Amino acid sequence: MAELVCPYCNGALPPRATNTAFPFCSQRCRSIDLGAWLAEDYRVPVREDETERDGPGEEQLGGPQQGGRTEVN
Ligand SMILES: [Zn+2]
Repeated sequence: MAELVCPYCNGALPPRATNTAFPFCSQRCRSIDLGAWLAEDYRVPVREDETERDGPGEEQLGGPQQGGRTEVN
């Protein structure tokens, strides 16, 4: 029998009989996931054409090399 996990937090899922938030582990995860769904629904699907305009691989070159530069003198 496969162990059920919460689709939101991947936590262990309480037995369905005692879990009012099924198939989530808790009401919290359930409402969060529901909110995400709604938010997704409201979002207008936009194609990001601008990423193509930048040219390929340019973002990768400017990697996170100079992240936290700490000069302690
Ligand atoms: Zn959860």
